[in-house]
Amino acid sequence: MQAPDGLDDLYQDIILDHYRSPRNQGALEHPHLHGEGFNPFCGDQIHLTMTLGEDGRINGVGFVGQGCSISQASASMLSDQLKGKTLDEAEAFVRMFKGIMQGEEVSEELEEEIGEIASLQGVRQFPVRIKCALLGWTTLQDAIREYRETAS
Ligand code: ZN
Repeated sequence: MQAPDGLDDLYQDIILDHYRSPRNQGALEHPHLHGEGFNPFCGDQIHLTMTLGEDGRINGVGFVGQGCSISQASASMLSDQLKGKTLDEAEAFVRMFKGIMQGEEVSEELEEEIGEIASLQGVRQFPVRIKCALLGWTTLQDAIREYRETAS
């Protein structure tokens, strides 16, 4: 049996929980990195801010956004996993997630590592929603690129 929107029930519960109670809500006051993302197909928006510690690791994350449940839940899940990562690690994390969205198989080890993010693999059944799921991640990627360009 399929859930009304075709997503597995368990996955749907996790996504709705993040949509209703997004983690790391808000914009940081003096961010080192910031990015704006917009998905014209769905009207989703994400504004992402991050701070870096002296060790070069992300130590603060805040995002505000509006749009569909997939876009906001995905950004919330991403924001939950960024603290403690270097920018290189964050970029590798984005590549991993894009790979999943492009159809790469999720091994049991990876599924354990990424936790709730694994729930988004159900979105692959709905190609038009993949852009929604990726919005927070491409916003992060753009923010890192811009930071590197202005820092060098
Ligand atoms: Zn959307």
